[in-house]
Amino acid sequence: MKIHEYQAKELFRKYKVPTPAGGVSESVGGVEEIAAKLGLPVAVKAQIHAGGRGKGGGVKLARTDGDVSAAADTILGMTLITKQTGPEGRVVKKVLVEKGVGIQKELYLSIIPDRETACITIVASRDGGMDIEEVAERSPERIIKVAVNPVTGIQGYHLRRVMFGLELEKPLMKEFSAILKNLYTLFVDYDCSMVEINPLIVTDDNMIVALDAKMDIDSNALYRHPDILEMHDPNEDDPIEAEAAKYNLNYINLDGNVGNMVNGAGLAMATMDIIKQAGAEPANFLDVGGGASAEMVENGFRLILSDPKVKGILINIFGGILRCDVLAQGVVRAAEKVKLSVPVVVRMEGTNVEEGRRILAESGLKLINANDLADAAEKVAGIVA
Ligand code: GDP
Ligand code: MN
Repeated sequence: MKIHEYQAKELFRKYKVPTPAGGVSESVGGVEEIAAKLGLPVAVKAQIHAGGRGKGGGVKLARTDGDVSAAADTILGMTLITKQTGPEGRVVKKVLVEKGVGIQKELYLSIIPDRETACITIVASRDGGMDIEEVAERSPERIIKVAVNPVTGIQGYHLRRVMFGLELEKPLMKEFSAILKNLYTLFVDYDCSMVEINPLIVTDDNMIVALDAKMDIDSNALYRHPDILEMHDPNEDDPIEAEAAKYNLNYINLDGNVGNMVNGAGLAMATMDIIKQAGAEPANFLDVGGGASAEMVENGFRLILSDPKVKGILINIFGGILRCDVLAQGVVRAAEKVKLSVPVVVRMEGTNVEEGRRILAESGLKLINANDLADAAEKVAGIVA
């Protein structure tokens, strides 16, 4: 689960990772009030769960009262489009107003788990700032990676390797060590899947400050972090995913146009692969579960149909615990309630398959039957091409 920059910074302060003074508001008046308290200049920053805000116009430095009001007025309510939001962008509901600081140097610092080595990896660069993706691509040698064994935890030599890699000046080392150690503790304490500071700056007066903050917390660990659960912002949820969660369906929204409904996560992955192999792109991942009821199938089908980017649907069910006749009933019920606006290809095998096929055939629905999985993928790819 992602949290906002201002929320991550609250946790940073708790763990003694320095951040600029600031406050959050949803109104222009509120922003003006905070700016008056902080003193000028201030930075006004859109709070959305996506990076690249600076380049998208979601971060503005204000040097006068007029600047403050104009920045708040522009950013609040804007649809902010960044590399990470997708073309639809995100409507900004809140801004963080922070005391402006003079920047001497912008560093990059993050902590992520590395599945390959089963280590916690510290990633750092002295080329922090808004172009870090380009640095990673063009001069990967300027990105430092230090692996920490989670059993023994962060040690002095890890800290030194990061600092030497950053070519940090000696007087800053003590402060940097403390910050990185604290950040590591925060990462572990909160079961994070990512903590990122870009930029971590050295100020004009030689202080180290986290100017930005990003945190992603492992959703499977949320039961032990009630304070994080309280930070949940429904404004940031994908509307179809939120709806799916209500019905206990495993649904993930993707970019393609082939909606697909499958029982079992493994079969769903294989189905997405074979859709791609046929030259099309899946619009979603949907696992209705091995023991799904007709009602769950109906809900899943309705969710897929509610997605405007879907141009064709592939239903791929292997009837084991979920019998084919039950699936067929769910599909027919959903199709009766919602207008079937796109072609549907069905590949069904397993328990009660004859009964399932009979229900679908007698329903009067215009369904396209597939002989096997490859045939199904080709048929649906042909439809959306
Ligand atoms: P992001 O683009 O979503 O990563 O947003 P950031 O919080 O990283 O802000 C983008 C850029 O704005 C930073 O890299 C800084 O260069 C600049 N910036 C943000 N806050 C301040 C500030 O208080 N003072 C100055 N001088 N620049 C700032
Ligand atoms: Mn940033």
